[in-house]
Amino acid sequence: MQHRHAPARICPSCDGFASASITLGGRDRNGQRRTITAHCRTCHGTGTVPPLRRLLETAADSAFTRQGARR
Ligand SMILES: [Zn+2]
Repeated sequence: MQHRHAPARICPSCDGFASASITLGGRDRNGQRRTITAHCRTCHGTGTVPPLRRLLETAADSAFTRQGARR
C-alpha cells in the first residue's frame, strides 16, 4: 500500500480552523453584534502549512549554497 502524497499539512496551531469570529461584546448602532475575524498566526488564515519535506530541502539547499560560496 502506497502512502498518499500530501501537498500540504493541516496547520498544527489551528487544526485547519484558520479564522474565527470573536464577539467583542455589545452591539453597534444597527443592533448587530460587534465581531472581529482573527486569523491564525502560523498559517495566516490558510489552515495549512507547507510540507515539512519542502522546508527541509529548502534549508539544506541554502546551507550547501553557503558552504560552497566560501571556497
Ligand atoms: Zn493555522
